[in-house]
Amino acid sequence: MRKIFDFHGGIHPPENKEQSLHCAIRDAGIPPVLVLPLSQHIGAPASPVVAVGERVLKGQMIAAAPGFVSVPLHAPSSGTVTAIEDRLIAHPSGLPARCIVIETDGRDEWAELRGAPDYAELDSQDLLAMIRQAGIAGMGGAGFPTAVKLATGPDRAVETLVINGTECEPYITADDILMRERPGRIIEGVKILQHLLQPGETLIGIEDNKPEAIAALSTAAAGSDIEIVKFPTKYPSGGEKQLIEILTGKQVPAGGLPLDVGVICQNVGTAVAIQDAVLFGRPLISRITTVTGAAVDKPGNFEVLLGTLMSYLLSQAGYHPESNNRLIMGGPMMGFTVPDANVPIVKTTNCLLSPDETELPAPPPAQACIRCGMCEQVCPASLLPQQMFWFAQGKEFEKLEQHNLFDCIECGACSWACPSNIPLVQYYRASKAEILQLRAEHTRAEQSRLRFEARQERIEREAAARAEKRAARKKAAEQRAQAAAIGGDGDEDPIQAAIDRAKAKKAAQQAGSARQPDKREQLEKAVLTTRKRLETAEAKLQQARDDGSDLADALQMCVDKTRVKLSAAEQALNDYLQAGPPAEANTHDGLDPAAAAIARAKAARAEDATTSPTDKARKQLESLEQRLQKTRDRLSESRSSGDEEKIIEALEATVVRLEEKISASREALTTAGEA
Ligand code: SF4
Ligand code: SF4
Repeated sequence: MRKIFDFHGGIHPPENKEQSLHCAIRDAGIPPVLVLPLSQHIGAPASPVVAVGERVLKGQMIAAAPGFVSVPLHAPSSGTVTAIEDRLIAHPSGLPARCIVIETDGRDEWAELRGAPDYAELDSQDLLAMIRQAGIAGMGGAGFPTAVKLATGPDRAVETLVINGTECEPYITADDILMRERPGRIIEGVKILQHLLQPGETLIGIEDNKPEAIAALSTAAAGSDIEIVKFPTKYPSGGEKQLIEILTGKQVPAGGLPLDVGVICQNVGTAVAIQDAVLFGRPLISRITTVTGAAVDKPGNFEVLLGTLMSYLLSQAGYHPESNNRLIMGGPMMGFTVPDANVPIVKTTNCLLSPDETELPAPPPAQACIRCGMCEQVCPASLLPQQMFWFAQGKEFEKLEQHNLFDCIECGACSWACPSNIPLVQYYRASKAEILQLRAEHTRAEQSRLRFEARQERIEREAAARAEKRAARKKAAEQRAQAAAIGGDGDEDPIQAAIDRAKAKKAAQQAGSARQPDKREQLEKAVLTTRKRLETAEAKLQQARDDGSDLADALQMCVDKTRVKLSAAEQALNDYLQAGPPAEANTHDGLDPAAAAIARAKAARAEDATTSPTDKARKQLESLEQRLQKTRDRLSESRSSGDEEKIIEALEATVVRLEEKISASREALTTAGEA
């Protein structure tokens, strides 16, 4: 008999699981529209590989993973892509995010799939690639890319593979019903994980409030080396670190990973997804979601396609919106209120809870902390919630981090136990978000500083090079003058020769600049420039995603806009080429463009004839200095208001250009004064 350990703290809230367990898994069917957020996991959002208007098949990849910590996205049913745009999604921020919208055709036509029933022949890299390509992210709630978690590296031995069948949060029964009805698929998935990780032991941990699930899995695992471990019910036993401690007695260190103590943990739903992906080549396109709460007549568990709108799913469970006081994605402890019922089900949606006011009343107003210590007693992460509350109120982020804020699993046990009704976990969530934002800003400022220093270095280098060239020119002129004085051709005046050369050069430049690019050249140039901009924006977007920067969304918009501009520029060029140039396209009032430009230049010179060259140079210098000042002001405003990096970079580049022009202009004035 395996020894069971206990973790610090924990609570016993009312379970409320029976409501959704009285019938088998129901198929939610194919909704008319599927809305698929590109980011349904931790890491960089997927990048669309389909276009609006394109027909897609069920299981076809519609967005690719752009980096290592990311997963692709697949069409849950056949249909047509009708939009790629920002839509409201289920997220605590309540902000919209980029989604691919598919209008389904009801045919549910599969793309070609390729599984590997003989997966034992594959090496670990091939298996990981299959899991990654199937778009699997942890289905227990966090959504971390599964292939990343399983890529342990050659020197990290896995002593224990833990499969999480705990499902400790009240109301949620999606994993329970999965274990009761599909134990064979879970065990098959676990065997694939065993082949991949070669663990010393494999344990499936289940709370003792799920006797049917324990019996079903025990039967399915009979004859294998997979051990089903039952332990007493306590919230939050399903937390990864808490479950590892219960089953092995090992404590994952603060800020550490389970692999640091030789353990890998996966959810039972993820094991089924792995089985589907490896044996049949089926990507993750659906999941089991519990729909429950007093505001639905027929609570239960549904097999639902990802992207299905919550309103559609709720209608199948007999939803009464008028009696629902708030719609929660997840359970009452760790879930969050969704802004609208028209947001989609995603890979991490394990429950839709629709309570009425009696069932989950609004929390009473918070009172002052009475220092009772209840929060500390129930905290499963052995933190000091009361102290963290003070630091969070005072925004003392350094102290919060010293008190291991990021080890808080946001289980809400402290808030539940607090007699003063202080919503402690909300303070921790908000503080984490602020700290992460500050870290991102610090990284941005550091990158900006490095760019600035690099620019200064370049300016100094270029100034030194210019000074060197000037000195060389001066020396050469002196040598020529000396040579002429000693025995050169008495008829040739070296100063006059230099003036003649300068005049010839200027005339050549004027002749060159007089030729204006024709329409076709302009259109071609626009296409090339926009394409280059798109490449640069895509490279920056990729970099931001790899860095996990929160600029990625803004850069994605920039990439989308530039794509549209490129398409417009290409269309314009195409139209021009098909129509052919107009007969007089290259003329101006009957003159050819070069002649017209020369005429305009002559007119301008005549107008300026009364102004001396030195005055003109001074005027030009003043104008440049004004422009420089304005640009610097704008740059300073942009930096302080936190504008996008690309705007700041463009302004910095303009400042450099203007500084160089001013420097050249001053030199010219000095030379004119000396002359
Ligand atoms: S449980 Fe509430 S009242 Fe008690 S110490 Fe913690 S924060 Fe204060
Ligand atoms: S929410 Fe965080 S601080 Fe509160 S009990 Fe859970 S782990 Fe501890």
